[in-house]
Amino acid sequence: MTESAKPESAVPEYNKPLPVLTDENRPFWDACRSGRLSFQCCSGCGHLRYPISPFCPECLSADFAWTPVSGRGTVFASVVFHQAYHPGFKQEVPYNVALIQLEEGPRMYSNVVGVPPREVRVGDLVEVIFDPVTTEITVPRFRPRGTAT
Ligand SMILES: [Zn+2]
Repeated sequence: MTESAKPESAVPEYNKPLPVLTDENRPFWDACRSGRLSFQCCSGCGHLRYPISPFCPECLSADFAWTPVSGRGTVFASVVFHQAYHPGFKQEVPYNVALIQLEEGPRMYSNVVGVPPREVRVGDLVEVIFDPVTTEITVPRFRPRGTAT
């Protein structure tokens, strides 16, 4: 790669799987890049849908508006991965994978970072942080609430 082809904000090479951006999911990832967690809010019934989908699972409406949420939640479930199932995670083990119950309703899989993986407990209060892993993708992760960066 030539120096001129490298964007100024380039981050170190990221070798883990990345989401494939589509017209459907791009607003979610654009919001993450801007430091906001945003979900589809159904125009028919107000349900916040996640995972991203073309229809509301509650009322089947196709209409929605992207709506930012607080990013606050609690740990609903937590596990520690000791084995790398993808070569990109070899340097990460052991690492935490958690299901986060967001205050507004949706649950999302993520990582709780900033604490040893084994110390993450169900019920822990967490808040979203944004990890820019490439110039295009910023991954939402969580940290214990009230901790500094
Ligand atoms: Zn709905």
